[in-house]
Amino acid sequence: MSFDVVVLGGGSGGYATALRGAQLGLNVALIEADKVGGTCLHRGCIPTKAMLHAAEVADAVREAGKFGVGAQLTGVDMTQVNAFKQGVIDRLYKGLTGLVSGRGVTLIEGWGTLVAANAVQVGDQRIEGKHVVLGTGSYARSIPGVEIGGRVITSDQALQMDYVPQNPVVLGGGVIGLEFASVWTSFGAKVQIVEGLPRLAPNEDEAVSKALERAFRKRGIGFKTGAMVAEVFQDENSVTVKLQNGETVSGDILLVAVGRGPRTADLGYEAQGLPMDRGFVLTDDRLRTGVGNVWAVGDIVPGLQLAHRGFQQGIAVAERIAGLNPPPLIEANIPRVTYCEPEIASIGLTEAAAKAAYGEDAIETVEYNLAGNGKSQVLQTQGFVKVVSLKGGPVLGMHMLGSRVGELVGEAQLIVSWEAHPSDVAELVHAHPTQDEAIGEAFMALAGKPLHAHA
Ligand SMILES: Cc1cc2nc3c(=O)[nH]c(=O)nc-3n(C[C@H](O)[C@H](O)[C@H](O)COP(=O)(O)OP(=O)(O)OC[C@H]3O[C@@H](n4cnc5c(N)ncnc54)[C@H](O)[C@@H]3O)c2cc1C
Repeated sequence: MSFDVVVLGGGSGGYATALRGAQLGLNVALIEADKVGGTCLHRGCIPTKAMLHAAEVADAVREAGKFGVGAQLTGVDMTQVNAFKQGVIDRLYKGLTGLVSGRGVTLIEGWGTLVAANAVQVGDQRIEGKHVVLGTGSYARSIPGVEIGGRVITSDQALQMDYVPQNPVVLGGGVIGLEFASVWTSFGAKVQIVEGLPRLAPNEDEAVSKALERAFRKRGIGFKTGAMVAEVFQDENSVTVKLQNGETVSGDILLVAVGRGPRTADLGYEAQGLPMDRGFVLTDDRLRTGVGNVWAVGDIVPGLQLAHRGFQQGIAVAERIAGLNPPPLIEANIPRVTYCEPEIASIGLTEAAAKAAYGEDAIETVEYNLAGNGKSQVLQTQGFVKVVSLKGGPVLGMHMLGSRVGELVGEAQLIVSWEAHPSDVAELVHAHPTQDEAIGEAFMALAGKPLHAHA
């Protein structure tokens, strides 16, 4: 079998390559061992967001009295939550498989191995391509000495649970850990987070971490930061994390959420001489590996492991194969959202990164507190919009915290990616009352003409 493009792995990166390639008239094969849609659709973005929505509903019912609405939360039925979640996945999966076949992509089911720079072997079939695009994704990592099994689980098992844990321990205060901590708390659990770095959400601007920690404390979520794990042991009833400082943290389950490793072992990548580093496939800024016409997309390429990065990389690779010349992706300008309550949304450089890049004195920042934003008051949420800007120059980063601020990241992305100056944005009209206005207010403050803010 011979194609213009052979894509190995049907996750966000792989299927985006296949769909765009077919759209551009290329003859494409997509090889997938499990289900098209990959981690994001079946074990990642979509199922977690369905659970987070159920969590928001639980919180709304629990707090209904605050708004004068009589309601009582009588329980959370995980069988029903899981059915709702699966219904969303099934509908999207049906749509996606329809798209793949509708665009004329040849879907080959099975486990593929790279056997030459232009060929993938699936069982006894050799599938050749003028170009090969690798998108084999990632798996939940653990840390040395912590084995997954029994009461020690990853996000894969956490998404399948048919009960709400009573007092789960979450190892890792990054995106996945924070989202599960948030869901389980809304469902009534007593959660404790253990994070090795000095703060929760350690990749975000420090101001975001501080405010998130305050909000989580208020929600009754316990956490220890700068806490390194020495060992983990479990018995029939509980699991205990012993920290290097001698303290222990116990619960009924331990969710290990310490990041994701590239799924590249035993796939023929090293044998074909691909440049690799700690399991990741190295590429140039156009995603070429430098070996034949082999390209790589998604979580196996070092950088942010996000579905929309995979989509964009896949589209760009397909376009390059078809002879177009899309520009390389600017990694810092990929929007980042953590969908816990309150949400975190950010883009571009943090204040610390901007100062490191341009010098302390070249950077100015402003934080607009959501206390002054009407819609946020209606929603009863706290947080802020923070802008990091080059003095007299463009906006370099935006960092937001508060319920629903994930929906604001679109405007933030345009501002940062189009290198807008604060004065450009201060001229724009933001609808009242929306949370979006907080962005407008932050820029008015930065332009020296704050409206709903104390000078
Ligand atoms: C709990 C969780 C929540 C997440 N939430 C978000 C979110 O809200 N937003 C966001 O942007 N990102 C989120 N992510 C990350 C997102 O899921 C990944 O970045 C994205 O799925 C990566 O896409 P990919 O194409 O690189 O790999 P994957 O989606 O992992 O797909 C790889 C595919 O390749 C197949 N495959 C692998 N090896 C072979 C082989 N040898 N032969 C055949 N097939 C093979 C696999 O079966 C899989 O289907 C989340 C991840 C997790 C785990």
